Amino acid sequence: MTGIDDLPIRDELRGKSPYGAPQLDVPVRLNTNENPYPLPEPLVRRIAERVTEAARHLNRYPDRDAVELRTALAAYLTRTGGHPVTAAQVWAANGSNEIIQQLLQTFGGPGRTALGFEPSYSMHALISRGTGTGWISGPRGDDFTIDVAAATAEIAAHRPDVVFVCSPNNPTGTAVEAATVLALYEAAQAARADGAGALVVVDEAYGEFSHRPSLLPLIEGRPNLVVSRTMSKAFGAAGLRLGYLAADPAVVDAVQLVRLPYHLSSVTQATALAALEHTDTLLKYVEQLKAERDRLVTELRAIGCEVVTSDANFVQFGRFDDAHAAWQAILDHGVLVRDNGVPGWLRVTAGTPAENDAFLDAVRTLFKERS
Ligand code: PMP
Repeated sequence: MTGIDDLPIRDELRGKSPYGAPQLDVPVRLNTNENPYPLPEPLVRRIAERVTEAARHLNRYPDRDAVELRTALAAYLTRTGGHPVTAAQVWAANGSNEIIQQLLQTFGGPGRTALGFEPSYSMHALISRGTGTGWISGPRGDDFTIDVAAATAEIAAHRPDVVFVCSPNNPTGTAVEAATVLALYEAAQAARADGAGALVVVDEAYGEFSHRPSLLPLIEGRPNLVVSRTMSKAFGAAGLRLGYLAADPAVVDAVQLVRLPYHLSSVTQATALAALEHTDTLLKYVEQLKAERDRLVTELRAIGCEVVTSDANFVQFGRFDDAHAAWQAILDHGVLVRDNGVPGWLRVTAGTPAENDAFLDAVRTLFKERS
């Protein structure tokens, strides 16, 4: 049988594995940071209306610049992000993964490097590899925060072209302070002797779940700072595949150089616009999930777990001598959580109250068996 490595694939892809959270058919799935609430029926009907209208024009290519959608996203950010943003500062793509890919195609690539502080979202490294960008793994402290002195030293030593700051960070849930982002930004600009500076990407996929305000206002006067967002989490629309960025209009112009023409289908644009019309309803679910996230933290600590303070819709908990065995034991109780490969720790996504109860029961049983 022909294997991947028998094919003439690029050397740097040899022996590597694709991104792959297990998609197992179990009663309670709390492993991919999805929103547990299906879209409300009035929104489902509005999507059907908008998509029906879009279908009447599917003989034509979509709006290549997605102007109506970018205008609606800019209005959403202006309303919720603590900073006024125009459509010219917003760009949208098929999930924030594609946003990150377009940024790396534009600002990374062969001969260039990207740096992130790990453990963090594994796709930052994987998309770097996929775009031929070298990957540098920067440090985090034992409490999973970013130590400014250690981080800026790393930036000065490696002079990366792109720096990823994930806030709140996946898988640890850790939010990053604005002062830390500013210090990293300054270090990233100073490290580049060519004067061109480095791009700093603040990945705020979980921004809406944070106890803290968005880092969006930091884009003001900083043309090399990008905030990326998604409708996969807070908007409960992971199946839609809609991510977006806010930055200086020059960044939006720059990614036009690599985006595929008509990358965002008319159906996607219509669906996202319908969802944005229902922002207030969807943000009420976010409030429920934040309360459930806080309950998970409190109850896990009461059970005797160590828990990393979380600003996201998930919680990293431990510690286990054998995290994979603990993952399996929880799965045996019908609850799927995530083993991100962080030694001693697992991650659980906040689900509905009933799902969270099932998860907490499984962990309680596990801890009783241990003691
Ligand atoms: N950034 C982070 C930190 C994530 O955790 C995820 C999804 N797990 C993404 C980006 C990508 O999300 P999407 O492509 O669905 O927008």
